[in-house]
Amino acid sequence: MKTIRVSDETWANLLRLKADLRARSLDDVIKKLLNAYGLEKEEEKAEEGEIKEGEEVESPPRIRQYLCENCGYLFEVEGEADKCERCGSENLQILKEYF
Ligand SMILES: [Zn+2]
Repeated sequence: MKTIRVSDETWANLLRLKADLRARSLDDVIKKLLNAYGLEKEEEKAEEGEIKEGEEVESPPRIRQYLCENCGYLFEVEGEADKCERCGSENLQILKEYF
């Protein structure tokens, strides 16, 4: 889990941007900025949920789905796996990653 805390100055800048862009929320600010820089594809990866003043923002855990190339075992791990949960082989392939 990663926690992001912004300074009062950063927060003030974000609120100013929000007003400048006439955004409805900070999520909207991020979307508008991404659009402005032509990064629409990145938008899909943007976190869901609104950032509220004074709240700590937690990024959701990244889940990885691994396939063991040794025994064919399929398993999911929060974070990273270095070994197969069944046979202990380090010969793993990442099939999917999601948040
Ligand atoms: Zn295995």
